[in-house]
Amino acid sequence: MSSLFPALAAGSNRQALRFGDRSLTHAELAAAAGVTAGRLRGAERVAVWATATLETAVGVVGALLAGVPAVPLNPRTGARELEHIVADSAPSRVLAAPGDRLPPVLDALERVDVDVRATGVAPLPPEPPAGAPALVVYTSGTTGPPKGAVLPRRAITATLDALADAWEWTGDDVLVHALPLFHVHGLILGILGPLRRGGAVHHLGRFATDALARELAAHGTMFFGVPTMYHRIAEALPGDPALAEALSGARLLVSGSAALPVHDHERIAAATGRRVVERYGMTETLMNTSVRVDGEPRPGTVGVPLDGVELRLVEESGEEITAYDGESVGEIQVRGPNLFTAYLNRPDATAAAFDGDWFRTGDMATRDPDGYVRIVGRKATDLIKSGGYKIGAGEIENALLDHPGVREAAVTGEPDPDLGERIVAWIVPSDMRNPPTADALAGHVASQLAPHKRPREVRLLDTLPRNDMGKIVKRALRHG
Ligand code: ATP
Ligand code: MG
Repeated sequence: MSSLFPALAAGSNRQALRFGDRSLTHAELAAAAGVTAGRLRGAERVAVWATATLETAVGVVGALLAGVPAVPLNPRTGARELEHIVADSAPSRVLAAPGDRLPPVLDALERVDVDVRATGVAPLPPEPPAGAPALVVYTSGTTGPPKGAVLPRRAITATLDALADAWEWTGDDVLVHALPLFHVHGLILGILGPLRRGGAVHHLGRFATDALARELAAHGTMFFGVPTMYHRIAEALPGDPALAEALSGARLLVSGSAALPVHDHERIAAATGRRVVERYGMTETLMNTSVRVDGEPRPGTVGVPLDGVELRLVEESGEEITAYDGESVGEIQVRGPNLFTAYLNRPDATAAAFDGDWFRTGDMATRDPDGYVRIVGRKATDLIKSGGYKIGAGEIENALLDHPGVREAAVTGEPDPDLGERIVAWIVPSDMRNPPTADALAGHVASQLAPHKRPREVRLLDTLPRNDMGKIVKRALRHG
């Protein structure tokens, strides 16, 4: 039926998907997705109203079986961004759950309601070649308007199989899932991953530490989260022995989509004995690196390149860093079967993003002598040029988060007549009535890192601006 999902083809009667009290076996999923696939015949591209529901999962699998590229839409996104994505990707149909109310910008599309109980035999077209587009996924829009990354089928299978290798991920694993389904993390890793392995996923609908503890204790073996979730876990653990016990019993806890603060990693390790495994990826490249379960955990790093992924660090001069010393900073560039094909309608951006077949990630990192990659931040927003130094925001953020008076921290470089850029710390204090002083924070950072890395200015906030994945949107800090 499809080499993407061998277990569907095999008609396995094991559970595949569960959302709330509704679930499907692999065989039932094959039937329902097959019917959806039949209803997509002739479509060139299909939008998916990607609520965190069984319908979205069945709809995407249906589109993959039909060989019709699917464009997952974030149902919570603003009208302007949605208009941009719909105009850019020009789908002719939209997959939705019966009863979903769709916004006017989708009125012109032919609506296809996904019936998760449908059965019947739909003749499927032959499977498209590995290079054919499977999904068009929009980037998170952290640094600018989202761009549509065209992902070939090969990228999905390559990344999921490399993760299976690094994480010893099998069909016996049950993933507890609480992420949205319109980005790589929640959709490709969180839904397509378990389906490809022949295992199961239980979606919580929305993240809550009590539901997570319950599901993990009952049958879950793994959990994929973003750093904001792990932060909430770290905060809840001291008062929640059931959560600590459930996490202790899990086989694998994975964090990605943004840097996991070392402070949260350590607190979770201390309370549960579990080391959260950090991996690093992007919409354009799917997964690039991960800490391996058979490797040494190293907080603050994103591990080593995954099977099949080639990774290099390139300095501003264009020189590749060949001797890893844990100090020299370069841009991460990657190549391998995990890469996207192009940005939709953006030949300019596509061309700018490649150096030959190497993709320029825009992320800056160092490597330890044994190859572990340590991300220091994004070239565009996190590399601060101050007083002749190039300083990564990430390590300063980690140092600040280690201060008891700091709940959340973001560091930016602001224009400064003297230094070029001045290090500014945006802080959500643990206690707004008694925030740490700028001097105390500067002293704390200077004692942990180096004096020139201390913030010159501290600004207090109630919350940090974050997008749907919990990523800090630094451009909103600057302008806000
Ligand atoms: P846009 O490209 O639209 O500005 P975005 O880059 O946030 O948005 P994504 O493709 O969802 O969109 O995110 C990829 C980025 O997320 C990476 O380039 C990297 O900066 C960051 N990232 C992902 N995982 C990690 C991690 N483990 N540690 C640090 N950063 C990470
Ligand atoms: Mg990006």
